[in-house]
Amino acid sequence: MDAHRIRHTFLEFFRSKDHRVRQSASLIPNDPTMLLTIAGMVPFKPYFLGEAVPDHPRAATVQKSARTVDIENVGYTTRHLTFFEMLGNFSFGDYFKREAIRWAWELSTTPQEQGGFGFEPERIWATVFEEDDESAQLWLEETDVPAERIQRIGVPEGSSRLDASDNYWSLGGAGPCGPCSELYYDRGPEHGPDGGPLVDETRFLEFWNLVFMQYEQDADGNVLGELPQQNVDTGMGFERMAMLLQDVPNVYETDVLRPILDRAADVTGIGYGEREDADVSLRVLAEHTRSASFLIADGVLPSNEGRGYVLRRLLRRAVKHARSLGHEGAVMPAMTDAVRQTLGDAWSELVEQRELVDRVCASEEEHFTRTLAYGTGMLDEAIAKAKAEGWSHVPAATAFTLHDTYGFPVDLTVEIAREQGLDLDRDAFAEHMEAQRARSRAGAKGGDGTAVPIETYREAVARTGPSDFIGYTRTDTETPLA
Ligand code: ATP
Ligand code: MG
Ligand code: MG
Ligand code: MG
Repeated sequence: MDAHRIRHTFLEFFRSKDHRVRQSASLIPNDPTMLLTIAGMVPFKPYFLGEAVPDHPRAATVQKSARTVDIENVGYTTRHLTFFEMLGNFSFGDYFKREAIRWAWELSTTPQEQGGFGFEPERIWATVFEEDDESAQLWLEETDVPAERIQRIGVPEGSSRLDASDNYWSLGGAGPCGPCSELYYDRGPEHGPDGGPLVDETRFLEFWNLVFMQYEQDADGNVLGELPQQNVDTGMGFERMAMLLQDVPNVYETDVLRPILDRAADVTGIGYGEREDADVSLRVLAEHTRSASFLIADGVLPSNEGRGYVLRRLLRRAVKHARSLGHEGAVMPAMTDAVRQTLGDAWSELVEQRELVDRVCASEEEHFTRTLAYGTGMLDEAIAKAKAEGWSHVPAATAFTLHDTYGFPVDLTVEIAREQGLDLDRDAFAEHMEAQRARSRAGAKGGDGTAVPIETYREAVARTGPSDFIGYTRTDTETPLA
């Protein structure tokens, strides 16, 4: 199944269950408390919180999502990306657990010729929250999953908060919360030991999370009672589905990433699949350029804080990996082109914002290339000194100077140090950062030091037009995505 058909299959299935298909919202949430759109539920938050009433109680989307928590996994695990598409079905005070579980099973196991994804039922495992007997029972009543393939996941030892569990969802503070139930696919014994997702998360791949918003909690995570309205929020990983349905070993080799990966190999002259460490770098280069392209197309510009810093980190990590493959020339023009070629038909903003994406990426690469050469030299010296002195850490002061004066992202410092068996004292680094913030609050001249004047980007935006609102304004229309 190709990418288009996967998106289409999901949306059409839920359309047939009376869901309204809505366009993806922007990666920039319409919500000052959130940095990025991290999941399909984000644009619907007002409906879940009861602050707004939807015109229809059921929705289905393909939502662009970005997660920085997974940045260190990119290139290494089979399943993590910083940008991915989340397929979701939602109930705003309408259906609840029974239908959500029944439909998840139905869509997963219905043969492809009949509009489903056609997974063999024997390969599916389910998890439920430890105390959620109701969901465990519904899995038995509504599906063919045998009891031994339903695993219960509770709160990790030592934690008192329910939402510390992988199978319990909350927004983080006070508000709606509730148990989750997840679907996993058994990729087979060649991928790891038997025993379900509790034993091995590479062999048993999580592909769908069903969240049941059932209770309300206070800021400390204490359950206050049942919500007046019960909601369903599900998230299915689109690239993970593509990985399974296209029978490839990881998300990077699916049709929404493989052409970008191949371009990375072309540009750097390093074949994919020849050396594991080079493969990691090729995957990071491909994935981060993809992620950065989507962020820029939605109006994010590089800066030293907030989402602009997320973007800067992604671009700088991408460039750093290209350089560590031994490639000195510019890679960004070819890479952003590959992203557009691969995903421009599904996501027109990549084409509409082409000039801005290209200009921002090329400009970041140029400036970073200069600082990288200097920063790497400085870091190499610090590492050599630390080793000679027998320290286990790179000095936090060096990491701070690299970050603050040379625009050398701290996670790059950590990564390079790690390759040499050294750590960074994150707390000490954070103290330096805090001291710097205090200095700039006190009116000291705060040096950005990265040499990319923000005016460059302002001009770029002025020429191309603002792009902040791409997507979000379209969420109320009912145009299917694919
Ligand atoms: P994992 O345990 O694999 O990190 P998760 O439990 O953090 O995933 P959820 O928050 O439940 O993920 O998100 C819903 C779905 O989105 C997941 O079931 C998965 O299919 C997909 N997903 C989550 N994170 C990523 C990611 N970084 N890259 C690609 N897909 C993802
Ligand atoms: Mg995760
Ligand atoms: Mg998980
Ligand atoms: Mg999950």
